[in-house]
Amino acid sequence: MATTTAEATKTSSTNVEDKQSQNLRHQEVGHKSLLQSDDLYQYILETSVYPREPESMKELREVTAKHPWNIMTTSADEGQFLNMLIKLVNAKNTMEIGVYTGYSLLATALALPEDGKILAMDVNRENYELGLPIIEKAGVAHKIDFREGPALPVLDQLVADEKNHGTYDFIFVDADKDNYINYHKRLIDLVKVGGVIGYDNTLWNGSVVAPPDAPMRKYVRYYRDFVLELNKALAADPRIEICMLPVGDGITICRRIS
Ligand code: SAM
Ligand code: CA
Repeated sequence: MATTTAEATKTSSTNVEDKQSQNLRHQEVGHKSLLQSDDLYQYILETSVYPREPESMKELREVTAKHPWNIMTTSADEGQFLNMLIKLVNAKNTMEIGVYTGYSLLATALALPEDGKILAMDVNRENYELGLPIIEKAGVAHKIDFREGPALPVLDQLVADEKNHGTYDFIFVDADKDNYINYHKRLIDLVKVGGVIGYDNTLWNGSVVAPPDAPMRKYVRYYRDFVLELNKALAADPRIEICMLPVGDGITICRRIS
């Protein structure tokens, strides 16, 4: 249908206003939604995520929201995506690096079959224990093997035993971004061919495309170069197929092919 001149003028002036408000909103790198508008993100949450979110995940999300480091939690839409992905690949043996209060861990545990397993690692046990009663109440704690401490030595131990090679169906990495390349070097041996590794925060608050002088929080600026380096390395790795999705803060899905 043809657009009238009045409609066209209205649309273009609305677009200009939208653009201006977006520019303002996105001036500071670190804005939480990568979508073009907050309303669109809210629409996704209210239409497709919250109505289908399991009660236990809702409870954990609400408990986490009161914690001072709540900015670290996986968003509800990403939790829903992980839960779906794990079911799609029929994952049974999984790993998570970076647990915090356990929102992505619970999304994983709920998606796995009764005899599914998650090797979950975090340097901080206290935050995991904040969410643990909710995970227990959901009846999925038996799937979790939580290890307190840095993930790298655990991975080194696993890699040292050839029996562990190619045994993981799904791995979610959501921890110290300056170690992602080191994790990848080990995880590529541990994930099975056809299995999936998800690297989280690969759009790093949108900072991956920000000019060097853009206003940025200190931690965003610090980890930015590591994320840029990881993204290049994943794109150049012939052992995996990749797909970078603008879900949450960006997640790169890697499927091992050799
Ligand atoms: N996936 C979590 C969720 O859904 O809430 C969020 C994880 S949070 C972004 C990052 C976590 O990585 C923190 O809990 C932090 O303690 C943990 N971490 C940082 N360095 C680590 C390391 N070297 N090994 C294991 N965990 C680490
Ligand atoms: Ca994350």
